[in-house]
Amino acid sequence: FSICLFFISSVGCTDAKNLKGGQIEKKVEDLLSKMTLEEKIGQMNQISSSGNLEEMSRLIKKGEVGSILNEIDPVRVNALQRLAVEESRLGIPLLIARDVIHGFKTIFPIPLGQAASFNPQIVEDGARVAAKEASSVGIRWTFAPMIDISRDARWGRIAESCGEDTYLTSVMGAAMVKGFQGNSLNDPTSILACAKHFVGYGAVEGGRDYNSTHLTERQLRNDYLPPFEAATKQGAATFMSSFNDNDGVPSSANPFILKTVLRNEWGFDGFVVSDWASIKEMVNHGFCANDKESAMKAVNAGVDMEMVSYTYMNHLKELIKENKVTEKTIDDAVRNILRIKFRMGLFDNPYINGKAPSVMYSPENLAAAKAAATQSAILLKNDNTLPINSSVKTIAVVGPMADAPYEQMGTWAFDGEKAKTQTPLQSLKQLYGDKVQIIYEPALSYTRDKNTENISKAVNAAKKADIVLAFVGEEAILSGEAHCLADLHLLGAQSDLIKALAETGKPLVTVVMAGRPLTIGKEVEMSNSVLYSFHPGTMGGPAIADLLFGKSVPSGKTPVTFPKEVGQIPLYYNHNNTGRPATKKETLLDNIEVGAGQTSLGCTSFYMDAGFDPLFPFGYGLSYTTYKYNNLKLSATEFTPKGQIEVTFDLKNTGKYEGTEVAQLYVRDKVGSVTRPVKELKRFTRVTLKPGETKNISFMLPVEELAFWNIDMKKVVEPGDFTLWVGTNSQEGISADFKVVE
Ligand code: BGC
Repeated sequence: FSICLFFISSVGCTDAKNLKGGQIEKKVEDLLSKMTLEEKIGQMNQISSSGNLEEMSRLIKKGEVGSILNEIDPVRVNALQRLAVEESRLGIPLLIARDVIHGFKTIFPIPLGQAASFNPQIVEDGARVAAKEASSVGIRWTFAPMIDISRDARWGRIAESCGEDTYLTSVMGAAMVKGFQGNSLNDPTSILACAKHFVGYGAVEGGRDYNSTHLTERQLRNDYLPPFEAATKQGAATFMSSFNDNDGVPSSANPFILKTVLRNEWGFDGFVVSDWASIKEMVNHGFCANDKESAMKAVNAGVDMEMVSYTYMNHLKELIKENKVTEKTIDDAVRNILRIKFRMGLFDNPYINGKAPSVMYSPENLAAAKAAATQSAILLKNDNTLPINSSVKTIAVVGPMADAPYEQMGTWAFDGEKAKTQTPLQSLKQLYGDKVQIIYEPALSYTRDKNTENISKAVNAAKKADIVLAFVGEEAILSGEAHCLADLHLLGAQSDLIKALAETGKPLVTVVMAGRPLTIGKEVEMSNSVLYSFHPGTMGGPAIADLLFGKSVPSGKTPVTFPKEVGQIPLYYNHNNTGRPATKKETLLDNIEVGAGQTSLGCTSFYMDAGFDPLFPFGYGLSYTTYKYNNLKLSATEFTPKGQIEVTFDLKNTGKYEGTEVAQLYVRDKVGSVTRPVKELKRFTRVTLKPGETKNISFMLPVEELAFWNIDMKKVVEPGDFTLWVGTNSQEGISADFKVVE
């Protein structure tokens, strides 16, 4: 109560923590009844802080701004908030928003990297740290998690996603929502999550950003919508409508997804914001003749708040006069927005206390970021060169990513400071410099550098060393929004560098830091060991150094299939069965005899030049130790649709190191009323085992989770035969069959 005295707003002081749903609805209705049409439309307006301060202040005082995006100066946040709370007629507080995607100051691995941990706790912790840091400067809303299923690495935004799998993305997305929003929306350290981009944006044609998608309702429902439903169940307060048009309808004007699915089927009662200018861009799409029609279609479809493009501000009033939009539509949108503002206690605690600095980069935050970077790294190849052993006295550290503090933070890291980032070179020196001599020769000044002049210096360093660590990959700018690529090979002269180093005959460890899976088959072949670290963030350096020296043991798994060649895309593990299933046979173009008969290739679904197999399958990742799966048992051989399958198996550490294995459970529904995926991930867990140790692992799988959208577009479990695997990745495992009966 005493705190409330300081923040008297015209709607009064309420302890939001004690507000039940009904009381909040009453507050919303009371306030709504006092609002003019202009004030209502104002709540639906989000402006960018990059605009002119005077103009911003004028709009805020008139009650014409609901939210401000990208304001991160706590003093200005409080000043603007004061205008809204004390100088606007109804004192409705502003919602301050920012893209806090994988950390605010302490940068965590990019989401694709976090997904590689297969550890929802790590992801939740990361989002919690981001929320604590961001809320300390007044940010109370982030545009994350991005839970677009992404099966095309040409698309730069794959970096922001959790990869190709619906189940993994659902689990990780929900964990992020939980971390951002904390235990309660009205905790001052909680920031609203925004499930984005709704929906299908990851399937843009050709991996070209902002492009069209052509997903059928069944694909949407089976593969693309479930992560969003999971976010709703986790209580995500907001959703963002995506840029793409699906089957000809831009998401920002699609009542099927925004109303039928989101509101009616899932019961979502938060609010929907458009993506940046996506309402206005419906004119570019050729879906609306002008801004006014865009505003009409968007609001009628269910977009509650418009991000930056002012079509609502400029046209809604007139549209109401013309009866093209009803006042009820406006009221519903405003209700959704106010409901969330009340739920988060913003009316009672609109200001921040200005204690920001102490929480930024705190030791706990850095430790969480290091744990995330450690668990995200994927060991793709190892001939026992790793971990680096005590016979190694001299190390050559080379390559453009060895000491690139800004680049290793990855995309969407606006607020992370490069001076706080710890690079592999720094950490190797700091943590292991007393044990080994380190010779550093970057050879290339950045990843796109084509100048081969200095490669000889790196080769000389390699010759003097017992082992070579080559840090290659992508700069931060090469992935992310609007940064798509048609070629996924290592850029610049990086491959020449690896080749020259391999030719020295010295043991070569290649560490890749990138925003996407790159087609690195050649470099993998030339290296003794390969560690893949999707841009690992602030603490990438110490995480990687400890992994290389065996102080920690790799446990990450690929959250996305690594193609051999870009032409194989889309290539994902859970594709449907075909009439001519691909065999593992590799028929290479060079081996086909001149004059060979048409059927000599076996007539299965594969490329003559790249075969069928990926470079690395989904769920793949090695360790310094080895694991054995054994003794798989199901609790029965037949189950009813309401039943539970208890799956147990033994997992043994058969190697010399303590390690953590990500055990994965996949299921195949053998026959369906529509064709079904060859297998689908249904469960995973991280298991830590000492050398020689065996644990009996158990998964409970409700049969309901085998449901899919069938030929009648109903979500059902169809009785029939199934196969279930447990194993170390999507291609290797032990299996058992079972039946579902009526
Ligand atoms: C992106 C969104 C982002 C928004 C605000 C857009 O360009 O697509 O993901 O949240 O900008 O920065």
